[in-house]
Parts: sequence; structure tokens; C-alpha cells
Amino acid sequence: MTTLSNNVADLAPHDRTRPLKKGKVKPARDLCSECGLCDTRWVAYVKQACPFLHQQFEAMELEVHGRSRNLDLEEELYFGVYQRMLTARLKQPIIGAQWTGIVSRLSIKAIETGLVDAVLCVQQSEEDRFTPVPILARTADEILAARVNKATLSPNLEVLEQLSGSNIKRLLVIGVGCQTQAFRAIQNTLPLDAVYILGMPCVDNVSRAGLETFLKSTSKSPDTVIHYEFMQDFYIHFHHSNGKSELVPFFGLDTPKVKDIFAPSCLSCFDYVNAGADLVIGYMGAKFGYQWLTVRNSRGEQLLQLVEPELEIQPVTSSGNRHAAVQQGIDAYNQSIRLPSWMASIVGWFVQRIGPQGLEYSRFSIDSHFTRNALWVWRHHGEKAEKHIPLFAKKIVSQYRLPS
Ligand SMILES: Cc1cc2nc3c(=O)[nH]c(=O)nc-3n(C[C@H](O)[C@H](O)[C@H](O)COP(=O)(O)OP(=O)(O)OC[C@H]3O[C@@H](n4cnc5c(N)ncnc54)[C@H](O)[C@@H]3O)c2cc1C
Ligand code: SF4
Ligand code: SF4
Repeated sequence: MTTLSNNVADLAPHDRTRPLKKGKVKPARDLCSECGLCDTRWVAYVKQACPFLHQQFEAMELEVHGRSRNLDLEEELYFGVYQRMLTARLKQPIIGAQWTGIVSRLSIKAIETGLVDAVLCVQQSEEDRFTPVPILARTADEILAARVNKATLSPNLEVLEQLSGSNIKRLLVIGVGCQTQAFRAIQNTLPLDAVYILGMPCVDNVSRAGLETFLKSTSKSPDTVIHYEFMQDFYIHFHHSNGKSELVPFFGLDTPKVKDIFAPSCLSCFDYVNAGADLVIGYMGAKFGYQWLTVRNSRGEQLLQLVEPELEIQPVTSSGNRHAAVQQGIDAYNQSIRLPSWMASIVGWFVQRIGPQGLEYSRFSIDSHFTRNALWVWRHHGEKAEKHIPLFAKKIVSQYRLPS
């Protein structure tokens, strides 16, 4: 005869666990990026799955791509395991998308062709343009309603609870690096037959309150901003609800104010290029107006083929030398220097013309963020730093002179 305790013991850990109550301190405490995992029963695996409790890039890459990145090849050291890289834009861009809308178009094709039953993506709340509302989308309209970045931490994985009892067996997951890492760690315990991950690079994310401080300290009209991006021309491009654009040079940021707005999770994150995704779509390795695509494995290739005939494609390029600019940035950041706006515009103008472009711009951005984040982790988490900072990031950071 089977006893009740035997039955309970037979259950999978997530069937014996409840989601954490909303508002409760998460296991990663102040480092939590609110990825949503702990809002589901899959919190049962949090010790192994949370990227802020347990870094496992090598094991993840090995399992997902069949090998981990080769640290002796500069392109893999920076951009992770990949099969091919290209830049592209949709021949017919989607109005209102973050860039040309390749992510949304590809997702729609994945549903229309039957590759997947649903797409995990993020819509916005009716009251607030920047408050994320994750969903499992099943129609083109639902996917289109999720277009454009919600530039705040987003609990994407909370919707995994809805898989149980649904008829979703094949899922396309859209997400940033921390969400991908947590998802990969529990993927095999989900009631799914097939999974594809379309990732985006991500850096410097903020809580909703942090976003408010950023907009107020950077834009002339913070309340009308509907969309913004840190672009390859070294300007932040704000788009306002009245159709106007506003450009603010990176070098003119109010460093003392902006320094503290980024979420601690993002100040300790080294997964800028989304190492565990099958296909990654960003912009920073492409020339202005194009998107940057990194195909990591055969599933990523399958995803790209859905949309390839609709793309205008160009090869990736690289020019300039980032090292001096990165070193100057480290020193300026450390001393919280703010340039007057006229000087920031002149510096921006010069850097745009003679500064790093294409893949070299990506390396500039990765170097700048990894050095800042390594410093932050060393200063705030002492002995945790050695284990937390992945090997590839240590190698990248070692090229620079860091303040003590
Ligand atoms: C927070 C964030 C930071 C980014 N930072 C960089 C960067 O530094 N460098 C770079 O090259 N690229 C970055 N990207 C990716 C880039 O900005 C574009 O999102 C990408 O190129 C796709 O553009 P698109 O026009 O095809 O997207 P769209 O077709 O507009 O689709 C955007 C997709 O993003 C998803 N999404 C929106 N907000 C979030 C969120 N908070 N978390 C997870 N998913 C979300 C939506 O579900 C939607 O499917 C970032 C993206 C995000 C969300
Ligand atoms: S980052 Fe995700 S997995 Fe880690 S504590 Fe926060 S919600 Fe949980
Ligand atoms: S910067 Fe890293 S931790 Fe922060 S939201 Fe992006 S992927 Fe997650």
C-alpha cells in the first residue's frame, strides 16, 4: 500500500512547493533581478537556477550549444558561442517596435508556421507605458502588443505557472540574459516538448523608481518619453509622445545622480550578450539603423530562417580602437565627473567620427560595463566576487587599470 508521505516524496520538487508570496524578500536579496522564477513553484530550484546565487556559464553553454566558448578567440570571448553573425533590418519595419521589429516579426512567423504554440513576451500595463506585463501570446495581435522595450526589470518567468493545464507544448521564450539563465536551469522540468530562446543583449536595467530618476535627470521632458535607447552614435535617443526626438550625449550624463539608479542585479551582471539564448537580436554590433543578430546553434538558425527572406542583410564590420576611451571612462566614472553639456556634445561629435564602430563598439560597451560591474562586485560583495565573476569577464577586465 502506498502511503501519503510516499506519494508526496514521488512528486517533483516544484509540485511540492509554493511560489514565494509577492513582496517577500527573494533568495538573492538585493541582487535579485525580479526574473519571475520565484513567483512560480519552480522556486523549488532557485539555489541552482538563480544567476545571482549560482553562476554556471560554462555548464549552460555546454548543455545548450554543445560546447562552451573558446576564451582564446576574441569574438567568442566577447560574444559567446556562435555559428554566424550578421546585421539586418526588416524590409518593412514594424511601426512602434524598438528598432525595426525583427523580434516581433520572427515571433509572429513562429506562431503562424506552427513552430511553436505560444510566445513568452512582455506587454505593458494600461496605466503605465514602462510597467511590464509578461504573457504567453498565441496570436499575432498579442505579440505586436508586446513590441518595444519596457526598460525596467521584468518578471517574465512568472507566466510559467500558466503552462500547467494549458495545451502549450512548444514555446518560444523572448528574454534578457538573467531570465534566460534561470529558464535554462529549469527547462527540463517544464511540461514542454520543445523550447526556443530568442534573447536580447541587456545592460543597465532599472527598477521602475530608478527609471523615473534617470528620465528626470536626463531628459528635458521626462513625462512624455515613450521610448529610448543608448545608441551606437554615443547619444541617448529619446522619443516623445508628440513625435519629437531628443538627443543627449552619453558623455554629458549626470554621473553622480545616474550612478546609483541601476539595479544591483544589473551592476553585478556579466551576461550582456545573453550567452544561453539560441539566437540573440540587439543593435550594438551593427551600424546605425540596423540590428545585430548572433546565431548560436541550430535552433537559432531555425528561428532566423523564419524571417530571413524579409530581411535586408549586411555583413558585420568593425573599426576603431576602444581601449583608450574605455580607460578614460573608468577614471571619469570613478571620480563621478560630469562634463558641461557643450563639452559633452563636442566629445560626442569627435568620438562618433573617430571612435569604435560595429563590433568594436560592442566591445567598447562590454569593456565599459564589465569593468564597472567588476569594481562594483568587488567593493560590495568582497569574497563573493571571485566565484561570481565568470572567467570570460575576468579576462576582459584584466586589460584595464582599475582604481583600488
Ligand atoms: C531591457 C533591455 C535592454 C537592452 N539593452 C541592449 C543593449 O545594451 N544593447 C543591444 O544591442 N541591445 C539591447 N537590447 C535589445 C534592443 O534594444 C532591442 O530590443 C532588440 O534589438 C529588438 O528590437 P526589435 O525592434 O526587433 O524589438 P521589438 O519587435 O520591438 O520587440 C521587443 C521585444 O522585447 C521584449 N521585451 C520588452 N521589454 C522587455 C524586458 N524588460 N525584458 C525582457 N523582454 C522584454 C518584448 O516582449 C518584445 O517581444 C535591450 C533590450 C531590453 C529589453
Ligand atoms: S533573480 Fe529570479 S531566481 Fe533569483 S531570486 Fe530573483 S526572482 Fe528568484
Ligand atoms: S542587466 Fe543583466 S541582470 Fe539586469 S535585467 Fe539585464 S540581463 Fe538581467
